[in-house]
Amino acid sequence: MTPEEFRRHGHRVIDWIADYQERVASLPVLSQVAPGDVLGALPARPPERGEGFDAVLDDLDRVVLPGITHWQHPSFFAYFPANASGPAILGDLLSAGLGVQGMLWATSPACTELETRVIDWLADLLGLPDAFHGNGVIEDSASSAVLVALLAALHRAAPDAVRDGLTGRHTVYASSQTHSSLEKAARIAGVGAANVRVVDVDPDTLALDPDHLDRTIAADVAAGATPVLVCATVGTTSTTAVDPVPAIGAVCRERGVWLHVDAAYAGVAAVCPEFRWVNDGLDLADSYSTNPHKWLLTNFDCTALWVRDRAPLVGALSILPEYLRNQATLSGGVVDYRDWQIPLGRRFRALKLWSVIRWYGAEGLREHIRAGVRLAALFARLAGADDGFEVRGHHPFGLVCFRPRDVDALTLMERLNASGDLYLTHTRVAGEVWLRLAVGAPATGEPHVRAAWARIAAERDALSGAAAAG
Ligand SMILES: *Cc1c(COP(=O)(O)O)cnc(C)c1O
Repeated sequence: MTPEEFRRHGHRVIDWIADYQERVASLPVLSQVAPGDVLGALPARPPERGEGFDAVLDDLDRVVLPGITHWQHPSFFAYFPANASGPAILGDLLSAGLGVQGMLWATSPACTELETRVIDWLADLLGLPDAFHGNGVIEDSASSAVLVALLAALHRAAPDAVRDGLTGRHTVYASSQTHSSLEKAARIAGVGAANVRVVDVDPDTLALDPDHLDRTIAADVAAGATPVLVCATVGTTSTTAVDPVPAIGAVCRERGVWLHVDAAYAGVAAVCPEFRWVNDGLDLADSYSTNPHKWLLTNFDCTALWVRDRAPLVGALSILPEYLRNQATLSGGVVDYRDWQIPLGRRFRALKLWSVIRWYGAEGLREHIRAGVRLAALFARLAGADDGFEVRGHHPFGLVCFRPRDVDALTLMERLNASGDLYLTHTRVAGEVWLRLAVGAPATGEPHVRAAWARIAAERDALSGAAAAG
């Protein structure tokens, strides 16, 4: 593809994306295809001769689009949001256009130094403790962030263990509400799922119990284990429960255990002064991560990770084969982010976060968070005013958990989702099903939330009417 051809097709692609943004609200939120439909519509063999780019765009409409669940749809309320935005898309395109592989400072100094600056900007926007400044990195996901935090913690607890292999029993601590990525990290790191100790939660708030944490650590130490890491969560995936990080941090300090704080979804809310409380206790954390790719207008993938001390992280992950030796690395004056992550290679993700922060400014980012919070509160009021529904009282962010009192919650959700009008997911708390409505797509406004509520209430009426008639 020559630069001229690229220009022509590129303009069409940008038009396609802009058209998509304009029409996404008219598409069914949840993809209506059956398993195998997309696969069956694709040729089994690759083309022998090049086909040109128009054919790709045609198939995008014909084959791909029907198989898309529209995360940017204004009525997408499932999981947590995965925000996309114009500046992020363009920043990502620039990253692709430069085609840089930024594993070392020397392989593109700007790729490293822009990342250092922009992740510092984010620390500033969120009001993070000073210790994290200058010690941030962009990871692909919160799952990677907790894995590298665990490896750093293992390195700090037993300096040769990550390199030579673990000996003895190492334990990590979390609650039943902690994201599954912690157990995955424990499996990958060789700690083992059996050594993920599940700490009790308060039955009402679902927040981790720091006293039980302390007792569990003490018992493990007495039994000869080495406690390595505690994972606290600010805004759990299930219900946005908030662990008491200050009290957990005090236990970690006392016992010399690494504290990782996972605020994948909720952490970015700290751009607003009224949400700075989500940072409470971070001065006691060894590592902290939050995902601009969830609720901060940045296309997947972009997880911000900060560490208090980079030495154990780099100690655990740095390997220097001959082909990566260069003067800048050897003289030690630069950061090589390959030592802060699992893969060697890395793309220029900082460009999209830089574009987002510059386009919206702190003001625009705050307004986005506040809009989500306001709309979630509106939904909670609407559902709470209806005797047929129960709403969980805790909804400080963009997620509301609720359930119908007189019809089956999962049946209600499945009917709503199948309609394509909106998309919800569910969770279970103490065995009970709750529906989750997470507001946060940039396109979502008050009419969409009111329409969602009207649709939910009408479907409940239809279901309970059918039950009464039956
Ligand atoms: C979404 C989520 C994760 C996983 O995020 P990825 O970036 O997809 O790995 C981890 N922890 C919490 C609390 C989450 O909500």
